Amino acid sequence: MSVESEIQADLDAPEALLTLDEVIDLMVDQLSDGADHPELWRDFPEFMNHFPDFREAVETRLHDRQGPALPLTIILTVATALAGDAADALARFEPISVSHSQSPLVQGVVFFLQSLIDPANAKYDLTDRFCDTPFHKFDVLEGSSHLCCASWLQMSAGNLEMHPWQEVWNSPAAQAIRESIHDGSFRYCNKTACPFIASGTLPSKSDVAAQSGARRHVIDEALTVLPRGPERVTLAYDRTCNLSCPSCRKEKYAADSATRARFDRLQEEEILPMLRDSALVDITGSGDPFASKNFRRLMERLDAESYPDLRFQIMTNAMLLTPREWARFPALHGRTATLRISLDAATGPTHELIRRGARWDVMLENLAFAGDLRKQGMVDNLDFVFVVQVDNYREMGDFVDLGHRFGADAVNFFRMTNWGTFSTAQFAARAVFMPAHAEHDAFVRVMQDPRLRDPLVMLNDLMEFVEENGGNAPLRERHSLSPFD
Ligand code: SF4
Repeated sequence: MSVESEIQADLDAPEALLTLDEVIDLMVDQLSDGADHPELWRDFPEFMNHFPDFREAVETRLHDRQGPALPLTIILTVATALAGDAADALARFEPISVSHSQSPLVQGVVFFLQSLIDPANAKYDLTDRFCDTPFHKFDVLEGSSHLCCASWLQMSAGNLEMHPWQEVWNSPAAQAIRESIHDGSFRYCNKTACPFIASGTLPSKSDVAAQSGARRHVIDEALTVLPRGPERVTLAYDRTCNLSCPSCRKEKYAADSATRARFDRLQEEEILPMLRDSALVDITGSGDPFASKNFRRLMERLDAESYPDLRFQIMTNAMLLTPREWARFPALHGRTATLRISLDAATGPTHELIRRGARWDVMLENLAFAGDLRKQGMVDNLDFVFVVQVDNYREMGDFVDLGHRFGADAVNFFRMTNWGTFSTAQFAARAVFMPAHAEHDAFVRVMQDPRLRDPLVMLNDLMEFVEENGGNAPLRERHSLSPFD
């Protein structure tokens, strides 16, 4: 029995009452799994009515350090918000939100507090929404695998170096994640980072079911074990890169020979067989495909004859994307669905600051080459990516111009994520999209640049900063993408 139903049963059957302390213990216990529990927040008003001393009891525990601080702080924050000023509770919670930017529990609480401030906004009700991603997508990292982009859904489904891919794809963790989509809790998803949730663009279950018989079956049967493998696979286990961008790593990294041998085994035994069933492979969200010996070998092996139905998404910093290099990988020619270039800047000084080791003159040459590949039909889509931070936000409008200049099909903006390279304070100093940042107001003004309403632009998890009536064109109703999608 879940804590919610246990407490509810208690409320419904006064003869078997739990004490207030027992209720708080149960809540703390439930929250200690680190996942979000929206059903608990929904039932909070009833708990608080039943136990008028609820808030004081939690406050006393926190003060006397009786129990773990984070769950108790969360319980107190939710109770305070429900009792009065949700905006104030949210503002007070911001330091915890910044220091736990990857926690589905903490970000779920932020999402719930936002829903109290804006109760008429339908995006906060996920109970009838559906996300297809954990049912078709598989991201392979070093030592873990994920059913979505790992920065939005951190829980691992398992390690492909330890278990066959079929077992990991349907592991107990994978089943729990799919269950959380079916039950509408989305408890493992980072609700403020996921652009689909943040922008309110997740489709309803009935819309998804109406579009596809296969998905209808998954939804109607609440399937969590899937009979076929992933349609879309992202390979992000090799961090080898030709650059060392400060937002990603502290120094340049190249896998050593022992690591490369491990990755070779992984590729031979799991990745190559798994891709036989897949329609799309993304290389890579972890480094650069052209800098990695393992990914280079893999791209050579995935030829059209052996994998006739497979297409590529190539994500690169483009510093190595020269005509000579491209000619070495015939498997990519005419089979690249998307060539995605991550730049994070529209000018040389900013690019060379954020892309440590890059050269802007080379970048411009390679962007022109990428534009030629698009024109020749060698790639179907050319996407540019810009991860927003304090050092580059003033160049967002110019970045849209750059996209037009080189014939990009889409220009994507995302918030910067803390991949563990920054301390909380360092991240907060860069996270200009956080309301407490000194330049936040200036950032919000930049977000009203009409160029950010260009049909090319996808604002993803930054959509909320555009004032809908302030510009000269409506926001695009279009699904957002991950840098790794
Ligand atoms: S984080 Fe977002 S995209 Fe990922 S599974 Fe959850 S709702 Fe879907």
